[in-house]
Amino acid sequence: MIIILKPGASARNRDDIVESLKARGFTLHVSDGATQSVIGIIGIEPAQKVELADQYEALPFVEKCVPVSKPYKLVDRQFQPGGSTVEIGGVKIGGGAPPVMMAGPCTVETPEQIIESAIAVKKAGAQILRGGAYKPSTSPYSFHGHGVEGLKMLGAARDETGLPVITEVMDVRDVEVCCEWADCLQIGARNAQNYTLLREVGLAKKPVMLKRGMSMRYDEWLQAAEYIASQGNYNILLCERGIRTFETYTRNTFDINAIPAMKELSHLPIVADPSHGTGKASLVAPVTLASLVAGADAAIVEVHPNPAKALKDGAQSLTPAQFESLMAGWRALMP
Ligand code: PEP
Ligand code: MN
Repeated sequence: MIIILKPGASARNRDDIVESLKARGFTLHVSDGATQSVIGIIGIEPAQKVELADQYEALPFVEKCVPVSKPYKLVDRQFQPGGSTVEIGGVKIGGGAPPVMMAGPCTVETPEQIIESAIAVKKAGAQILRGGAYKPSTSPYSFHGHGVEGLKMLGAARDETGLPVITEVMDVRDVEVCCEWADCLQIGARNAQNYTLLREVGLAKKPVMLKRGMSMRYDEWLQAAEYIASQGNYNILLCERGIRTFETYTRNTFDINAIPAMKELSHLPIVADPSHGTGKASLVAPVTLASLVAGADAAIVEVHPNPAKALKDGAQSLTPAQFESLMAGWRALMP
C-alpha cells in the first residue's frame, strides 16, 4: 500500500507517519516528489490494509492510501505520479526535464579512441558519454573489453570533456570499481534478470540504467527494476533496446510501444537504444527520432570515430558526421 501525503504536508508530518509505521514493524520506502511525499509500505497482510487505510486517511495531511496489488510497487507509476527524475553527474533525466542524448562507442578501445569519441559527441550536443569496459559477448573468444584499464580511459575522457559517463557492469565483484569511475551503471540485456547483480547495484550509490532483456515482458522488466529499488536505490532508468522476434533483417526489433507503455506503468524515466534496437546504422536516426516523439526521456546512441574499424558493433555505430546530422533532427523535434 502507498500513502500519498497532501502537497502542503510538512517533513515533520511525513516523519511522524514513518515513525508510527516503523514502530509497527513495516518496511518502508519514502519518496519525496517535487510536490508531494509518498510512503510505500511493503509486507502488509491483506486483512490489515483496510484498517491501516482508514487510520491514516483520517489524518488531515494524508491525501489518500492506495493499495498496490501489482508485483512491482516502488517502480509503479502510482508511487510517483509526476514521474521521477534521475540525475547523472548533474544531468537531469525524466520528470519533464528536456530529453537527454547519451552517446559514444560500444566499447572503450584505446585512450585516443574514447577521447576522440567524447569530443565529437559533446560537440554535436550529447550530454553523457557511453563506453563499455566490461563487454558481454555471445562468444567466449571475442574481445571482452579492457576492464579496469577501460574504466580509467573513460575517466580520462570525462576529465577532458566534462561529460558524465555510463558504463556496463556485469559482475557483482566489479560493482565497486565501476562506481569509482562511472556516473551511471548499465545493466545489459543479458543480465537484466541476474537478480544477484540487480540487488547489488540496488545497494550502490549510483544511478542504474536497466536494459530490457531480449525476451522480457513489461511486467518482468519492471519486477527486475523493483529488485534494484527494493534495496533503496530509486535512481533507475529503463532502457528499451529491442527484443528478439522472427525478423532477421534487423538485429533486434525495437519496441516503440515500450516507450509510452512504460510511461503508463511506471514513473521511471525511459531511454531508447536504437543502436542495439536495430543493429543497422542506417536505421538509427529515424528510430531515435521516433522514440523522441513517442516520449522518450533520453536516447543512447553508439558513435565511433571509424565504425569500419570498431572492435564491436561497428555496423550499428554512427560516424561523428552522421551523429551531428541526427542531433540536428533531434533538436528540431525537442518538445
Ligand atoms: C551495449 O550497450 O553495448 C550492449 C551490450 O547492450 P545490450 O545489453 O542491450 O545488448
Ligand atoms: Mn554495443
